[in-house]
This record gives sequence, structure tokens and C-alpha cells, in this order.
Amino acid sequence: MNIKWHENPLRTTVELTDNERERFRLKLKIDEYEEAVGMAALYLDEKGDQAKYFSLETARRYLARVQKEEFENEHYDDFIREIESGYHCGDCTSAPSSCAKCYAEGLLGIDTIPGLKHDVAVYVDAAFGRDENVGIDEAIRRLKTYEPVPSGGWLELPPEKFEANVDHWKKQARAAYKWLVDYKRSRLA
Ligand SMILES: [Zn+2]
Repeated sequence: MNIKWHENPLRTTVELTDNERERFRLKLKIDEYEEAVGMAALYLDEKGDQAKYFSLETARRYLARVQKEEFENEHYDDFIREIESGYHCGDCTSAPSSCAKCYAEGLLGIDTIPGLKHDVAVYVDAAFGRDENVGIDEAIRRLKTYEPVPSGGWLELPPEKFEANVDHWKKQARAAYKWLVDYKRSRLA
């Protein structure tokens, strides 16, 4: 496994050998089987807390997925793409979805953004933005000099509402700055 630390930590990628890919495929398969069987069990619970959801039909549908030939490969390609070229976006960056890259890294037993909390990661994400030419030094500079400026919906609210949040936002940006400086020193040196 070759982890290629990117200047933007949310874009770090991992190269897998054929053996590692195969292990990943099997782990994903087990995970998906467990989920399907767990869901089926939930719909087969006749007497317990879930009894009101009892449904042979739904349980059968979950179990039918396990039998499908293509089941194991359904998401494999997507997750491999996340590992090899994707970027973190989801729970880990305060976006309202689960992060496929975090999930895939979890199956591999790695974490390329350890200690980066989601409400701090969102500042790291914003410092790089969507311009792939922004390097780590520029992102660090942006975080170091971060000054919140009212925009969007804030412009319609009384200025004191905005002001009330400024200290908190600056604190988060400061935490992002420290994390990124440490990342540069430990991963990119
Ligand atoms: Zn993530």
C-alpha cells in the first residue's frame, strides 16, 4: 500500500497492489453481506421491538441481493476510485452525506486525516477551495489570516448576529491552521 500524501489532505490517494485490491474486495463483500443479512433479520423479527416492521417480502428482497452474482462488485469500482483518486466529502467535512472515501479507508484499516474533526475539516476544505492549483502554503496562509466576511443570508440579518459567531469561526480556522501546519511537517517534509 502506497499512500500518496497530497498537499490538500482531503485529496490524499492510495495505491493498492493486486493482493490489496483483492483483500479490499473481500472485505467490502463481507461488509455488504453483513448489512443485507442484518437488514433481513430486522424485518424477520416477529416478537421483538421491531415486530411492527415484520415483512417477509422485504427480508427476502435483502437476502436476494446477497445471491446476486454482481452483488460483490456493485460498489467495488466506486470505492476503488475514491481510494485512488477521490477526495473527502461528507460527514468528515460537515457535508450532509456519508463520505465514501472515509468508508473505503476504514475497510483498508487506514485513516489519512486522523484527528481532523469535521467542523475543522470544513475550514481546510474551504482554504483549498475547488481550485486544484492552490497549494498547502497558500491554504495555510489563508487560514492564518482568516477573517470572516458577511455574505449570502448573513447580509439580511442584523450585524450583531454575525458578530456573535466571529470568535467561534476564528477559533475553528485557527484549529484548521494548526492541523494543516502539523500535516505539512509530518507528511510532506
Ligand atoms: Zn472522508
